[in-house]
Amino acid sequence: MDSKFKQTFFFTFLLFGIVLTTVSAQEDNSAKIPAKGYAAMTAGRRFVPYEFERRGVGENDVLIEILYAGICHTDLHQVMEDWRKGIFPMVPGHEIVGRVSQTGKNIQSVKIGDYAGVGCMVNSCGECEQCRKDEEQYCPKTIWTYNCLDTDGIPSQGGYSDKIVVNEKFVVKIPEEAPLERMAPLFCAGITTYSPLRYHRVKPGDNLAVAGFGGLGDMAVQYAIAMGAKVTVFDVNEGKRQSAIDLGVAKFVNVRNEKELDGLNGSFDLILSTIPTRYDAGMYLRMLKVDGAMVLLGMPPKDQTPIIPAAALTGRRKIYASLIGGMKETREMLDFSVKNKIYPHVEIIPIQKLDEAFQNLAEGKAPFRYVIDMKSLNDAK
Ligand code: NDP
Ligand code: ZN
Repeated sequence: MDSKFKQTFFFTFLLFGIVLTTVSAQEDNSAKIPAKGYAAMTAGRRFVPYEFERRGVGENDVLIEILYAGICHTDLHQVMEDWRKGIFPMVPGHEIVGRVSQTGKNIQSVKIGDYAGVGCMVNSCGECEQCRKDEEQYCPKTIWTYNCLDTDGIPSQGGYSDKIVVNEKFVVKIPEEAPLERMAPLFCAGITTYSPLRYHRVKPGDNLAVAGFGGLGDMAVQYAIAMGAKVTVFDVNEGKRQSAIDLGVAKFVNVRNEKELDGLNGSFDLILSTIPTRYDAGMYLRMLKVDGAMVLLGMPPKDQTPIIPAAALTGRRKIYASLIGGMKETREMLDFSVKNKIYPHVEIIPIQKLDEAFQNLAEGKAPFRYVIDMKSLNDAK
């Protein structure tokens, strides 16, 4: 062999070695990751410890060690199959915060050790009209955080677990100074209420109502007040009157007490309803001013759709439903919340209390938001 040939041979061999090492490193990265959490094995409110696998960390993915997960009323609808047939075993949870523990090679927005949050979506097509408008929640191919088939056909699993792998676009960096144990609900309850308030450009002096004062209602009231609106709260639970007053509402109405409803017709610019069961939407529509709007955020079970009398819509009153918010707006919501110190009121529970928490939620005995402390996953059942 002459020396030039030897040199070429050597470099080709070296290159081949580098390529092989890179490929095998990528293979290692794509190796499945063992995970554990709590799952409902069939429809119902019973959870058991459950071990499963997350996909490997791809080049656009982030691995998050979950620290806290909120319990949204949607989780209850999903395990009860209130809207549609569920995919079981089901690990619910779409209000997630944790610490980044691994990043794919293209990741720039977060680094290992950062705190990060994930909400109701973990992917979308990225190309359709809605994705281009930063409204990934209306993409026809959105991958929901759980109870949905991922692009590889494997069911997505949510935040009642120790870790999650998510496409970077759906991961939001949380500032160091934020109160971590209160952050998780922002990624569903927060964005779901912030988005329609921004859509309606709520401004000082607007007269606004929030019907249903639970996890979403708590956030809606705080955002609307921070935007300068005068806020009235409607709920069925007398025990929540003082909390509403403490937040600075103009009025708390217990809808079970008819007298308190007197004189409210024609008074609101905007009503957000977070009510999760059947109710008479006509009562609220009549309380709107001419050209006012009612936004349905609460999603009652399919056999409990709210009653909407056409006559109550005269005066060009509008009614429509809104679904969470896009990722750009989620980042904006997080900045707004941190800047104005707007955080949910939470009760932290160990994961072993899931069954009890779901029962309380179903019976109207839950606090504003339960948040699971994921450290408890390692405790005995
Ligand atoms: P919560 O259970 O925390 O809050 C619901 C509140 O509504 C409770 O305070 C409840 O009182 C109250 N309520 C029940 N019935 C009535 C009534 N007839 N009139 C007035 N108030 C009533 O639920 P969440 O806030 O977590 O979720 C609310 C709904 O929003 C659910 O349907 C959920 O699926 C949906 N959702 C929708 C999203 C979207 O993108 N559109 C995103 C997230 C959630 P009590 O506790 O005493 O029963
Ligand atoms: Zn939710």
